[in-house]
Amino acid sequence: TSLFAAVELAPRDPILGLTEQFNADTRSNKVNLGVGVYYNDEGKIPLLGAVRKAELARIEAAAARGYLPIEGIVAYNQLVQKLLLGADSPLIAEGRALTAQSLGGTGALKVGADFLKRLLPGAKVAISNPSWENHRALFEGAGFEVVNYPYYDAATHGVDFDGMLAALRSYPANTVVVLHACCHNPTGVDLTVDQWHQVVAAVKETGLVPFLDIAYQGFGDGIDADAAAVRLFADANLTFLISSSFSKSFSLYGERVGALTLVAANREESARVLSQLKRVIRTNYSNPPTHGGTVVAHVLGQPELRAEWETELAGMRDRIRDMRKALVQKLKDRGVERNFDFVLKQRGMFSYSGLTADQVDRLREEHAVYAIGTGRICVAALNSRNIDAVADGIAAVLK
Ligand code: PMP
Repeated sequence: TSLFAAVELAPRDPILGLTEQFNADTRSNKVNLGVGVYYNDEGKIPLLGAVRKAELARIEAAAARGYLPIEGIVAYNQLVQKLLLGADSPLIAEGRALTAQSLGGTGALKVGADFLKRLLPGAKVAISNPSWENHRALFEGAGFEVVNYPYYDAATHGVDFDGMLAALRSYPANTVVVLHACCHNPTGVDLTVDQWHQVVAAVKETGLVPFLDIAYQGFGDGIDADAAAVRLFADANLTFLISSSFSKSFSLYGERVGALTLVAANREESARVLSQLKRVIRTNYSNPPTHGGTVVAHVLGQPELRAEWETELAGMRDRIRDMRKALVQKLKDRGVERNFDFVLKQRGMFSYSGLTADQVDRLREEHAVYAIGTGRICVAALNSRNIDAVADGIAAVLK
């Protein structure tokens, strides 16, 4: 009998499963708002001009493809720190920040989780309710028990901030708290700067371990504005972890470009921590891939290309905002009575639309518009050609 005879079929990924269903749909007017990717107005994943130029420069340079160091490209890691903490951050000058290039934001979370499991074997991990669908599985896979802290409040389309704060205060010291630094996935609902101040205070008082996940820097209000939470934690003199990703901000999804950054108490401690991260990485995938990190470091390190990238990133951010405005207006135009203005306050690629699972089913079956069962839609998949059909569909299922 086969070694694998008893292996059960794993449930398929809910979001990728939806995309399979979408691909098999033969209706020509179909729209997929279930994705987690930015599409331009032509409905395509853009290849940024700054990226293209950096790639051409790389080909011109005809560099050999040796292994990178375990922690990745030194210049890349330094540029990541500046983007997150600010170019003038005293933490960088003091050598307290350490960074390892990672395989996307997911890779950063995984390396961070494995490191934390060795450091705090009995700790629990708290994630927001709801959170990115991979957070729970990833931390459970690293051996942690994962709990939820209250976050989204469906009644207000906002944050249950009192509930969140009370939960944070109730945890034992050294509980790892995963926080979406900006553009919360899946809800699009973020904390205000004032609320972040209160979270920092609660984390400090309770002795929690903050793990900031920032996968959409630049998609909310701007590169620096979106790093506000990261910088509040830095200013508070805390030790913490940050997972970051260029998948969205550079439109480099498949190149797997991210970073794990830790802020330690001093330079010497930071060297010891990095040595342990390198052990985790060495036994996982040895060292990161070259291409994406080289391209990002090239763009961020050259003033002209960097300016071009910032303009392109602003273009993506503005287009998403325009789509939010257009959707809300078109629903009003169609006589929808429910107030959708909350969509304008949400940040990043996603919106918890408030549609029920039944309405999402009808939207898909009757109007060929695909959304996640929770009502999550990807605003970045709306464009000038499909938005009328989407608004028609939503208006119809709300009648
Ligand atoms: N964290 C969050 C909150 C995300 O939404 C995502 C990706 N959608 C990631 C991490 C992982 O990013 P990457 O694709 O770079 O691994």
